[in-house]
Amino acid sequence: MATRRSKQRERILQALQATDSHPTAEWIYQKLKPEIPNLSLGTVYRNLAILQEQGFVQKMPLGTTDRFEGNITPHYHLVCERCGRVADIEIPMYAEINEKASTMSSFKINRHRIDFFGICEKCQNKTKK
Ligand SMILES: [Zn+2]
Ligand SMILES: [Zn+2]
Repeated sequence: MATRRSKQRERILQALQATDSHPTAEWIYQKLKPEIPNLSLGTVYRNLAILQEQGFVQKMPLGTTDRFEGNITPHYHLVCERCGRVADIEIPMYAEINEKASTMSSFKINRHRIDFFGICEKCQNKTKK
């Protein structure tokens, strides 16, 4: 059965792949709204869920909001505690930790996540002035 990927979903994926800012659904909605006037925030959420299920998009729950990205290879993140900016950090994945965690628990571990929290460059420069 062929699944037809809707135009809107296509644009949502493109918008995500064109940025490395790990945006929220709201950001994507605001960005595409001028171009797709009948777009709703609910549609954006629904399509993001489908894209995630299909493996095109990665969801990153952060605090009370979900951030999304088109980079689906496993990687760690930097999170600015002041402005909420999220960036990728190129640091080797610590693969053995999954096995360790599964030995120490009754969980079958699928993945793990590491977020480094701190103050981004922009915010550091703001306080220096
Ligand atoms: Zn910042
Ligand atoms: Zn990322």
